[in-house]
Amino acid sequence: MKIAMVGTGYVGLVSGTCFAETGVDVTCVDIDKTKIDNLNKGILPIWEPGLEDMVVRNVNRKTLHFTTSLKEALERGVEVVFSAVGTPPDEDGSADLQYVLEVARQVGAYMTDYLVMVTKSTVPIGTAEKVRKIIQEELDKRGLDLSFDVSSNPEFLKEGSAIQDFLKPDRIVIGVDSPKAEAIMLKLYRPFELNNYPIIVMDIPSAEMTKYAANSMLATKISFMNDIANLCEIVGADAQNVRRGIGSDTRIGSQFLYPGAGYGGSCFPKDVKALIKTADENHYSLDILKSVEAVNNRQKKVLYTKVLRYFKGQLEGKTIALWGLSFKPNTDDMREAPALVFIEKMLEQGVKIKAYDPVAMEESKRRIGDVVEYGENQYDILREADALVVITEWSDFRLPDLDKMALLMNNKAIFDGRNIYNPQELLSLGWYYEAIGSHKNQ
Ligand code: NAD
Repeated sequence: MKIAMVGTGYVGLVSGTCFAETGVDVTCVDIDKTKIDNLNKGILPIWEPGLEDMVVRNVNRKTLHFTTSLKEALERGVEVVFSAVGTPPDEDGSADLQYVLEVARQVGAYMTDYLVMVTKSTVPIGTAEKVRKIIQEELDKRGLDLSFDVSSNPEFLKEGSAIQDFLKPDRIVIGVDSPKAEAIMLKLYRPFELNNYPIIVMDIPSAEMTKYAANSMLATKISFMNDIANLCEIVGADAQNVRRGIGSDTRIGSQFLYPGAGYGGSCFPKDVKALIKTADENHYSLDILKSVEAVNNRQKKVLYTKVLRYFKGQLEGKTIALWGLSFKPNTDDMREAPALVFIEKMLEQGVKIKAYDPVAMEESKRRIGDVVEYGENQYDILREADALVVITEWSDFRLPDLDKMALLMNNKAIFDGRNIYNPQELLSLGWYYEAIGSHKNQ
């Protein structure tokens, strides 16, 4: 079976490579020539555990190909074309569909036989219909009477564990409106079905909505817990205890209940915004999600507020060490990362920031340049620091050498944005320690 995966970013590269792993012949297409040239040399554009080996293995066994030409990919006789291009937020918060619709236009312009055009990108309800219309218009322009189907197959993988998530999914959602497309999609996913991963076939609008509803629900859990954690601090409760107390209720579940410095990344912020916008356009107000967004925007400033309060508003000339830059561990992705908000607010106050991240420093340099000083390792940046702020819970930061840290730092203060340290231990060793949602602050 031959397929094309258009858009070779986090989702496209992982999905394409994992399909290749099951024996499918996959052509990954991207308009970014440097990305494709590098991939052809075995150099990956993203950092994702286990991906490099898998890409190299499948390139060598010729199940995975890379090109900048969708036309060339279509000429290989593909049965399925996935669109995994970006859908960034437009200025008004709605999903910008220009890349998805451009892929549809090219498919209509170059397809030579029946195929299923599948949208894997996260797109608003009704996008499949827009895609269908554009392909048909292009075919009409060419005077060709070719049949095709559209499908929605949203992706639920998480950066940092993307390969595991793709190969061992909780479920696969397939939106189709033709038996032929359904049969082709089920054939493609047969290796997953054989391994008993649930495949849920549904109508296309419901599949499109499922992805937004899933991300919105997860974002809601995070903002809910952050809100409760902030109240815990005020009333003298401990959010960690509350988290355990409610997470053990199977109706609630323990995941996504960790209070922290706010959610970021390429998905939750933009998907919550886009669903709010879809509802607004349909004269319905998604009040819960509006609050989820507002709570998260406030939460991204929580570490800044704590540090400001600790230094009694006098931040000018201070040096703060920052552990973590990526929006979560095991990725170099910094889209909407809380670290960016923290850095911006601190620089406004005349603070010197020294930062370290195990993999995201190159990405940080690309985004914000040298406005912060980068360290060789996590201890390097502690020299003469007035406080340490932990914003990403990389495993490297979990059991640090506290004696060494005390010798390096000007002042023994830790602001833990991910609640990874033992407060009693730090307090007994004379550290000032603040986490999120705990009253045991000093
Ligand atoms: P990304 O920005 O990493 O990758 C998108 C790629 O598409 C880029 O390499 C870009 O050059 C390419 N592209 C744009 N226009 C193109 C065109 N006309 N032809 C070929 N390539 C083109 O994006 P991503 O993070 O992989 O996300 C892709 C989609 O998947 C988004 O809709 C996102 O919401 C969704 N999604 C992302 C994740 C995630 O964890 N990143 C998870 C699930 C779903």
